[in-house]
Order: sequence, then structure tokens, then C-alpha cells
Amino acid sequence: MNEHPIPSKAEVAVVLVAAGRGLRAGRETPKQYVPIGGRPLLSHTLDALAALGAPIQPVIAAGDEDLYGLALASASPQARPLCRPPVHGGQTRQASVLAGLEALSASGGVAHVLIHDGARPRPSARLLRAAVEAARLHKAAVPGLHVTDTIKQIDENGIIAATPERSCLRAVQTPQSFAFDLILVAHRNANKEKVQDLTDDAAIAEWAGHKVHVFDGEPSNVKVTNPEDFARMDASLLAALPDIRTGQGYDVHAFGPGDHVWLGGLKIPHERALVGHSDADVLLHALTDAILGALGDGDIGSHFPPSDPQWKGAASDRFLRHAVDLVQRRGGMIAHLDGTLICEAPKIGPHREAMRARIAEICALPIDRIGVKATTSEGLGFTGRREGIAALALATIRLPVGI
Ligand code: MG
Repeated sequence: MNEHPIPSKAEVAVVLVAAGRGLRAGRETPKQYVPIGGRPLLSHTLDALAALGAPIQPVIAAGDEDLYGLALASASPQARPLCRPPVHGGQTRQASVLAGLEALSASGGVAHVLIHDGARPRPSARLLRAAVEAARLHKAAVPGLHVTDTIKQIDENGIIAATPERSCLRAVQTPQSFAFDLILVAHRNANKEKVQDLTDDAAIAEWAGHKVHVFDGEPSNVKVTNPEDFARMDASLLAALPDIRTGQGYDVHAFGPGDHVWLGGLKIPHERALVGHSDADVLLHALTDAILGALGDGDIGSHFPPSDPQWKGAASDRFLRHAVDLVQRRGGMIAHLDGTLICEAPKIGPHREAMRARIAEICALPIDRIGVKATTSEGLGFTGRREGIAALALATIRLPVGI
């Protein structure tokens, strides 16, 4: 044991290992970024870890910055502020964990660290707290499950060589938890002595001569690995959000002097501008109201009063993102957003796909969950007279039961 603990502000932090290439999942995208329930697997892991309220140090592969950025944007508003800037991992899991530990060390260290795999999206709050407690008590601890199958050791010919006593076996999971200085020193020494490819951090601690305690893991804390795991998790996530709601939104802004309009989060050149307190983006306003309507939580005016000077000239993407965050705070997801612009001009068709992409980006949703349509009103009414633009929107959201 290091007798000079690293000075610490935080009691505990999490190293989140997400640098793997996930080849076993049989996909182009590394598995931690494959969508489940409409957003990257890693964003679910971040949400689960947020229950601990501790800083999270992500470790990602070089080149995965955009994928990580989307995962972070898709994570809940509780999780996002806990995430430190990601650091790059190494060639092996072991090297990646060391990179995460060194990043924490460089910023002052912590008393205890949990090391968790990005592809395990469902550690419960209870398990996270148990891991912290086990680190406090034992300095090195891992969650393990009793093995129900009989395990055989085989030789190179596939012949059974031994049948270990089942009661002595545990299948171990993450988060694995440690006194920070203990595991940092063990990792540094293993690296120095070129001990590589140890597949978990317990093995590093064992190699360094420490006793590693096993506490109860959770059967639901699975590592998502195979395509069937993704399908199963997709189904169970959607099943956990059975309260399906639809909200509508409607907005109008009048034309005034200017040379561009903001529509669907895009600046579009036009001979006139839309007049409003904010940037007057009717489509984003209607979408925001649709989500708020689905939540039964007021409207855009009650969340962002026009009387409040801070919203003067504001970009409307923040209104929409705020509504998305409210859904996520309630543990829900946006199933679909659909908007219709009603105007004679500007022509919307050339901008439709860019609008869908921008709205998807603002909401951190896959683009296939966003619809944008446009129509004229055949010269009739105020939109037909080119006095302004109207927008209609529908939002479908899914919430957990009982909220
Ligand atoms: Mg408006």
C-alpha cells in the first residue's frame, strides 16, 4: 500500500472504459456506440453511473471523438455534467484503464475508484454503492455471481481436464472497486514490467499481491456483447417505457424587415426576417411546445417567458434541448418528432434534410426519428398573403410507468 495517499477532493470517481473496438458484436461501429432504444449504448451506461453522483473519467479510442460526443449529448442532464473530458486509451484494456487512472491522478486523484466497462449499461445504484463500500472496507473488490452451469476446464484437444468445484467459482463483473493509490501503483508496475493483457483489474491487483474481495454482483448487470444481447436490451428498454404520450405544438411568427429567417435551426437567406423575441424559429418553437405538451408541463412561454430579457435574440435550439432534457430527467425518451411548416416562401424542400439533421443534432436523436414537412396554403390566409410563417408539430414520447 502507498502510505502517501494522493490528495483528494472527491471521495470516489469512475473510470469508464470505452476504448474497445467491439469486434465480437459483428458491427462496423464499436459496440459501445451502437444504438439501443434510440441512443448509443454508452449513453445508457453514463445514465446508470450518474446515480453515484461521482466524476466519470471516460477512456475512448483515438478517432472516436464524434461517436463519444453523440453518446455524451444523448446522456441524461444528470450524467452530462459528471463527465470529465475523455482521454485516449491504449492497445489493450489494461493500457486504457491505466490512461484513465493517470488522468485522475493528474487532476489530484481520489480516495476510491470504480472501474467500469462501457458496454455494461445497467449497474444499479445499489450495486454502485456496494462497490464503493467494498472499496472502503477491502481496498480491492469485484462484483461476482454464483455460477449455475458446471464449468469444465479443457485441454488443447477439447478434452475435459478438470471439473472445478462450482461453489468456489464466481463470474465477475464491473464496476470493480479499489483504493485509488493501490490500483494506480499496481497498474503502473504491471506496465513497467511489461505484464500485459490481463483482462480485468482484479487480475492486476492479484498480480500485485493484493487480496481481492468478491461482493454480490447482479444478474441484470450484463455486458452487451452479441447481436442477440442488443436485441434483448432494446426490447427490455422499450418495455420499461410503456407510457406513450403525444403532444402537439403550434406557432406563428410575422415577417418584418431583414435578409434571413431561422427555420428548423438553420439560417436561411430570405428577403424578409421573422419577428420575435428570440430568433423566431417557428418550427423549433412548435416542436418544443409539442414535447412540453406530451409531458403536460406548460408551454414554451412558461419555461422561457418573453418578458425575461435573457431570451432576447436567443437561439431557439436551447428551448428545444431544454424540453428534451425534461423528458430525460423523467427517465423517458423521445420516440418521434414531426413538424410541418406552412408558408409560400422560402422554399423548404431544398433545406428539409439539413433541417432534419440539425433537429436530430439538437435533440441527440437518430435522424429517422425526425420528420420535417412543408406546405403552402394556396395563397389563402395570412400565410398565403406572405405575412408570416406558421408551424405545426407533434411529439411522441415514452415515459416509465408511474411518473
Ligand atoms: Mg414562437
